[in-house]
Amino acid sequence: MRYIEPHGHMVSRTTDDYTHMAAAGCACVCEPAFWAGFDRSSVDGFHDYFCQLTDYEPKRAAKFGLAHYTWLCINPKESEDMGLARDVLGIIPKFLDCPNVLGIGEIGLNKNSKNELEVLELHVDLAARSNQLILVHTPHLEDKLKGTRLILDVLKSDSRIRPERCIIDHVEEHTVQMVLERGHWAGMTLYPESKCTAARAADMLECYGHERLWMNSACDWGVSVPLAVPYAALEMRKRGWTAEKIDGVIYQNPIHFMSQSPKFKAPPA
Ligand SMILES: [Zn+2]
Repeated sequence: MRYIEPHGHMVSRTTDDYTHMAAAGCACVCEPAFWAGFDRSSVDGFHDYFCQLTDYEPKRAAKFGLAHYTWLCINPKESEDMGLARDVLGIIPKFLDCPNVLGIGEIGLNKNSKNELEVLELHVDLAARSNQLILVHTPHLEDKLKGTRLILDVLKSDSRIRPERCIIDHVEEHTVQMVLERGHWAGMTLYPESKCTAARAADMLECYGHERLWMNSACDWGVSVPLAVPYAALEMRKRGWTAEKIDGVIYQNPIHFMSQSPKFKAPPA
């Protein structure tokens, strides 16, 4: 089996996780900027985090034979503070030329507040001006449907944004269709306690086709499973999916989407 982990917060994970992922067939890992589990106190905290994502973590991943790519932003959870958000948006451009940066993400909404929405629009503007791909986080549970609609409207209202260059992550049964209908890609996050199980992800793939969809573990500092993608592949195999079809979802689809960035290099065959 070969696969790509398109959404893993590897700075929170151990070297054992890298070993297990590589042993399971992971070819490369992509790490969106995220909440650290606590609010950073200043723009300097983000500066150091962006240095970690663009310099240290790719070197750490390389020790396990994995290419490492990243996405930059201030996450929605910390964007209530408009002053901080503007400061962080101000330092992102100088990191955009780093060789492993694929785009802006994971942006989006958390509580669907007015300030979050404004910061989302600023990120979308930055992505449009600098021709970056976009990776979007959608809110949890009861806020997901409304938040997803708000996010899709922000993307649609900016005529510079090409829908096929945006992936909307953490979709569930009630949001996947609207995301695909707008021409975006959709990500399914496999979590042991919330979001989506392997069985639900396989159901969605069977209902909505397997194009413009990927799966990720979104492994981070909380309860999460770095091998969730290969485990989901076992579920698909159990259901009688062919090896080619599984490979299409867990390996070729992420390559297809991320290759829209000239910096992404498909792993050697
Ligand atoms: Zn994430």
